[in-house]
Amino acid sequence: MKLEKLPRQELGYFPTPIIELKRLSQYLNGPRIWMKRDDQTGLAFGGNKTRKLEFFLGDALAKSADTIISAGAAQSNHCRQTAAAAAISNMECHLALGGSPPPLPNGNLLLDQLLGAIIHWCGEKRKGEDIPRIFQELEASGKVPYIVPYGGSTKIGACGFVDAVGELHSQLADMGEEITHLVFASSSGGTHAGLIVGKKIFDGKYHVIGISVDKGATGEQTLDEFIVGLAKETAQYLEVEAQFSPKDVILIPDYLGEGYGVVGDLEREAIALVAKLEGILLDPVYTGRAMGGLIDLIRKKELGKGDKVLFWHTGGTPALFAYAEELVV
Ligand SMILES: *Cc1c(COP(=O)(O)O)cnc(C)c1O
Repeated sequence: MKLEKLPRQELGYFPTPIIELKRLSQYLNGPRIWMKRDDQTGLAFGGNKTRKLEFFLGDALAKSADTIISAGAAQSNHCRQTAAAAAISNMECHLALGGSPPPLPNGNLLLDQLLGAIIHWCGEKRKGEDIPRIFQELEASGKVPYIVPYGGSTKIGACGFVDAVGELHSQLADMGEEITHLVFASSSGGTHAGLIVGKKIFDGKYHVIGISVDKGATGEQTLDEFIVGLAKETAQYLEVEAQFSPKDVILIPDYLGEGYGVVGDLEREAIALVAKLEGILLDPVYTGRAMGGLIDLIRKKELGKGDKVLFWHTGGTPALFAYAEELVV
């Protein structure tokens, strides 16, 4: 496999811890639950994008880029970690953000600005539609820009989660534990694709269950189809023989509520429960929704006492502050 040979820029602290959520299991009278703490990757408040960015920044530096461009929502965790990665790597960072400038920047947006990113406000276009224009402008001004696409969900980014599966398996081996289900928040597809490629390479025996937090369909393609395609591309890029089909992708669309980034009772309950029982903060957009989904699956007895669940905490906590009005109890 080519993973070890890819250019990589160290940005985070790995392996991230795995802890058991005993009080939550007990409260739900459900399966044992562990949490993989990618909220603790260490890159400017952490998160799953740190893993992807190690490979993107490695590639950008190998290509002698001096400027990074990426895109997302105003409260994008991906953009905040990208801004930090660029700062560490002595690169300029341009972010194409959805919406318009708020009177007072908060949460991730405040951090983007502290980290020195240059913000381009793009209205409805929060998925990188304006990146080509910004790229041309930067190139015309003599820069060498490098694009980290929306969510970092390309074969390069997915490699971060192939690597993460290797990390997980060696931790589980050290713990002497096996899991039956791996549950996480799935949005732009790169985490999901990396996990299923990694599971094939490292021969995982558990179900990988993505809780969909965004409709995610781009153009004609559904998110499931995109993930299968990206898994195939990633395997090919890593020069491993592996087949992927739609049955490899479990993506639960039942918890989308009022849509991407809209906090409902599901997220509010999950965030409050995990905070009060475990002293751990989830985020309002991704992990709050995914944990809400996991709690519902346990209450519906789709996951029971015999199961061993690993919940992958993908980060996002700085957005809590931008959601104060939706979260006050
Ligand atoms: C980006 C993100 C995800 C989803 O990862 P994808 O690779 O985009 O599917 C989950 N949780 C958090 C906190 C994120 O920032």
